[in-house]
Amino acid sequence: MTSGEIVIVGAGPAGMRAAITLARAGRRPIVLDEAPSSGGQVYRRPPPAIRRDAGALYGFEGRRATELHRAFDVLKGDIDYRPGTLVWNATDTRLHLLAEGRSRTQSWGRIILAPGAMDRIVPLPGWTLPGVYTLGGAQVALKAQAVGIGARVVFFGTGPLLYLVACQYAKAGIDVRAVLDTAPGLASLEALPGLIRGGRTFLKGLHYVSWLRMRGVRIASGVRPVEIGAGADGAVSGFRFERPGGREAFVECDAIGFGFGLKSETQLADLLGLDFAFDHRQRQWLPVQDADGRGSVPGVYLAGDGARVRGADVAELAGERAALAVLADEGEGAHRSRMAALGARIARAEPFRRALDEIAFPFPVELAREVPGDVMVCRCEGIDAKTIRNVAAASGTVDINRLKAFTRLGMGRCQGRVCAPAATEILAAAAGVPVEAVGRLRGQAPIKPMPLSALAEASS
Ligand SMILES: Cc1cc2nc3c(=O)[nH]c(=O)nc-3n(C[C@H](O)[C@H](O)[C@H](O)COP(=O)(O)OP(=O)(O)OC[C@H]3O[C@@H](n4cnc5c(N)ncnc54)[C@H](O)[C@@H]3O)c2cc1C
Repeated sequence: MTSGEIVIVGAGPAGMRAAITLARAGRRPIVLDEAPSSGGQVYRRPPPAIRRDAGALYGFEGRRATELHRAFDVLKGDIDYRPGTLVWNATDTRLHLLAEGRSRTQSWGRIILAPGAMDRIVPLPGWTLPGVYTLGGAQVALKAQAVGIGARVVFFGTGPLLYLVACQYAKAGIDVRAVLDTAPGLASLEALPGLIRGGRTFLKGLHYVSWLRMRGVRIASGVRPVEIGAGADGAVSGFRFERPGGREAFVECDAIGFGFGLKSETQLADLLGLDFAFDHRQRQWLPVQDADGRGSVPGVYLAGDGARVRGADVAELAGERAALAVLADEGEGAHRSRMAALGARIARAEPFRRALDEIAFPFPVELAREVPGDVMVCRCEGIDAKTIRNVAAASGTVDINRLKAFTRLGMGRCQGRVCAPAATEILAAAAGVPVEAVGRLRGQAPIKPMPLSALAEASS
């Protein structure tokens, strides 16, 4: 039974593979993506003026990226692909879109949410200085615009992206002054049994680290940030940190890339009323899904990092699986064995992911809980850490949405997408409760910044 338009939000590996699967089955899905071209974060295509071959752009993933782009492009006549289209609100029957500065709507009968993930950050002294970027932001500058964030760069944080972006910068000829990881040095050894299960992906990680070492890039583990220093011009001048054991060090640089893994983009799932559950491993509330990627609301499916951060390969598998679930729910039952095979492949990737999230690159919870009082946490609304602690103490609140009502935290342009991981940890620590007890910031439309004129147009 067909029940209206099949819409896919996101044209990264998950959304592209879902669209390819549906198009090959004779459907014509609508693919909405705010980016100007398909590929998502990992297979991002540069603007036409920048000519670089797939190897230079995507490294080890060159062949995979080329194959996926080719398969998607070949089917373009069978896919209603709409780049440059932001989905800023979702109701049970309609999506609200922003395209070319204008607001419009799109009905949906079934929807696959594949909006990917974003950087997870912990604020530290100096993080709002000019010259400080997230790791993802630093990578986008290089991939999409062929520019670096600075001439002498320090990369700081934890996670696979830390080493990958440092490598990409060093290969582009930029002076990478240091790669500083908050994860303890022996963590990778402890994680080894799980990491080995990652096969090729693990080997790529090893390659990045050894490549950086061979080029003489300073790499340190178990570091604790002290501050990002400012020069006379008010921009980044260096990075001060503590080594394990407490000795302080300072590295001069003119830009910093930092981040602590990724967090799923879940606002659309929230607006569509999906059930959520707290995921202890990724320390985030995530939409609940069944074994085939169905959300708790009929007609809503989940795939890729937007459902759970598991990397590009799993995103693609989950995209295909969600598309097959759509077909199965429309009465095409011939895909059962393929769906089971996809499920088995996704499950095989779990031990590797667990080793990454829990042991090799854990989120630095203490760092987040102990953000110094005068450090800005919500930069959109100007809320620092001591305000969160003071309001928690004065009001006795243990609910992040009540904190939002008291302080305006999370009400600005980013709608809490940037500040929520740290703010929830700070509130939980202040209230003396586990982080899941403070809840999650509820998604609100518009989920991303948009012109007021388009908002006015939408409401008229
Ligand atoms: C900044 C960043 C850099 C990364 N770099 C790498 C890397 O170099 N190598 C690697 O292996 N992995 C990298 N990753 C992880 C990798 O991108 C993901 O594992 C993989 O891309 C997940 O695929 P996906 O399809 O789920 O999401 P994505 O590839 O993130 O695609 C999601 C798509 O949804 C679109 N979208 C999101 N919200 C909306 C909305 N509301 N309306 C319309 N469109 C929307 C986005 O524009 C995007 O194109 C990176 C992740 C991030 C966040």
